[in-house]
Amino acid sequence: MHPFFDRSVEYLKGVGPQRAETLNKELQIFTFGDLLQHYPFRHEDRSKFYSINELMPNLPYVQLIGEFRSFRIVGIGRKMRLVGTFADETGTIEMVWFRGIQWIHKSLSTGVKYVAFGKATLYNGKFNIAHPEVEVQTEKNTTEGYLQPIYHSTEKMKKKGLESRFFSKVIKILLTEAIEHIEETLPDSLIRQFNFINKKAAVAAIHFPKTSQQLLQAQNRMKFEELFFVQLRLIKLKIARTEKFKGASLNKSDLLNKFYEKHLPFELTKAQKRVVKEIYADFRSGHQMNRLVQGDVGSGKTMVAFLAMLIAIGSGYQCAFMAPTEILAEQHFKELRIQARLIGIHIARLTGSTPKSERKIIHEGLMSGVISMLVGTHALLEDKVKFKNLGLAVIDEQHRFGVAQRAKLWTKTKDFYPHVLVMTATPIPRTLAMTLYGDLDISIIDELPKGRKPIKTIHYREKRRLAMFGFLEREIEKGHQAYIVYPLIEESAALDYKDLMDGYESISRRFQNYPISIVHGRMKAEDKEWEMQRFVKGETKIMVATTVIEVGVNVPNATIMAIENAERFGLSQLHQLRGRVGRGADQSHCVLMTGLKLSKEAKTRLSTMVNTTDGFKIAEVDLELRGPGDLTGTRQSGALDLLVADLVKDGEVLKTARVAARNILKTDPELSREENRPIKNHINSLNQSVVNWGRIS
Ligand code: ADP
Ligand code: MG
Repeated sequence: MHPFFDRSVEYLKGVGPQRAETLNKELQIFTFGDLLQHYPFRHEDRSKFYSINELMPNLPYVQLIGEFRSFRIVGIGRKMRLVGTFADETGTIEMVWFRGIQWIHKSLSTGVKYVAFGKATLYNGKFNIAHPEVEVQTEKNTTEGYLQPIYHSTEKMKKKGLESRFFSKVIKILLTEAIEHIEETLPDSLIRQFNFINKKAAVAAIHFPKTSQQLLQAQNRMKFEELFFVQLRLIKLKIARTEKFKGASLNKSDLLNKFYEKHLPFELTKAQKRVVKEIYADFRSGHQMNRLVQGDVGSGKTMVAFLAMLIAIGSGYQCAFMAPTEILAEQHFKELRIQARLIGIHIARLTGSTPKSERKIIHEGLMSGVISMLVGTHALLEDKVKFKNLGLAVIDEQHRFGVAQRAKLWTKTKDFYPHVLVMTATPIPRTLAMTLYGDLDISIIDELPKGRKPIKTIHYREKRRLAMFGFLEREIEKGHQAYIVYPLIEESAALDYKDLMDGYESISRRFQNYPISIVHGRMKAEDKEWEMQRFVKGETKIMVATTVIEVGVNVPNATIMAIENAERFGLSQLHQLRGRVGRGADQSHCVLMTGLKLSKEAKTRLSTMVNTTDGFKIAEVDLELRGPGDLTGTRQSGALDLLVADLVKDGEVLKTARVAARNILKTDPELSREENRPIKNHINSLNQSVVNWGRIS
């Protein structure tokens, strides 16, 4: 990029040191380049003029032509304001100013034709416009319609008068100088293929378009470009890794076939079969697999992982299966052990609480190759844990494992990298997956095993608590078990903890005849485990817990879950929690308990939960509500810091950009061709800028 764009905004006419400091602090705008990339988030149409008698409530900003009949200053002290009566042939309206009264009063006169622009609001049955923009009417501002950019600014900036108009003014000044330094970033081939306008035109028009069509063209191109470079980077990473990292060739399916024919406990769903095939194809490719399996809770990811491990073991390699918590690791171990024994595989478990003496035996078993399958937690990543020949690492619930840890697993074997299978039960929308995991291959299990009855979800306000208790009781009388979940977040831990305890007490009083378990984060691990086991064995009928994820167990006999203060949970969290019921053959229910007052967003979350059990649909709504950063819990991913594109709305552009990026890298992997020089130059300048691309993968 041209050094022009690195200049400090301080030196731009109309900015200066003080405003520059505000821009730095409030919007992280430091350089000319930053300011130019402060794109407007919408435009106001200034091509239409209204007559005063046409005004209606709820119009967006309007433009009027007329004269001031009179001005008066009313009120005193902080309530002082300037009121101007503005008239056209059809009526009058009041224009009101609360700040800069003297100056504005001086600059306006009666009997002069003005163009006034602002938001008309109804007050005491009459329209008025507060702080309108007023310009003397000219030929230009009456006949040349244009789109006025509206820029994001902060409360602090608004107090200093640094609003949309300010940005509009300084960016206009900046653009006149900047335009000659803006370099094309896309190759001709793409510009022609998609009929894009060039970069200079796009940057100018994204701020100051002449028509709405021009604005669309500019946005199209800028969105494409932004997504294109993210995808290019991800695909490049993927190619680099595939070429550099050989994977063990796992091509013996005998063990898998034997298990499949003799021991498979149920018929696989079509989706499960498809994913196993995708994995097998990767195994045979000779390259290292990095595959993400997305599947809703209960879609049967564990069996898919087990079958993949059978291929690896049948081909003479070891496998590691890593879960995010001890309890989950324990549960996986117990389930996998049943299958492993059937087929005669040596399986072991390693967690933080594995005793030293046992560890030593496991370490030796891994080194000698006696142990084929190791299930555990982070403990698997300790340096002491060395495998004879690790061929496949399965990571369950990926979002809890950092990328650094993923990378660490890869170094577990010296000569080649083990294949990596990441499984996530948090479905994320495709657009987000392509961006966050664009360097991985993605498999989707979009089908639940046959015969599952979708969980029925209802929403009760507090006053129906007795009905909820009655519901629970009927389920328990049928011989089933129930969960009652309480929110517990760090910020309000003390209060939440009290709620939980109060709740536990009242539940104990209400259900005196039934044994009840309670599990929460403040308990010792052994105590938690003991309580959990009582519930798993059916000794207790009700499990009161903070988040059941913590206790993430498979209890098919649990058919009802009540979630207290459900409005405080995020959508994906609610979905995860709910997935703890509906694991058996009986109809399951989920009751969302909330207070009376709910925000609009909370209402959307609750109604989404009531209306669907499809994790992918829920994820889409979650993305719309929270945006990509919050959804993934990581704002750090540079891939998500998009300036123009929107992962919620621009899914199509994203797909196109990904395909385009892939095609270009297919023919010119090093981007060394002359025609792709714009791409290469732009990547170089991105690498120098603050965005740390390394963090994406
Ligand atoms: P998740 O995808 O949430 O990890 P699990 O692998 O724990 O789901 O599977 C949930 C339950 O469904 C388990 O009890 C498992 O044995 C069972 N299951 C998995 N696949 C099938 C299938 N094809 N048919 C019937 N039951 C299945
Ligand atoms: Mg699972």
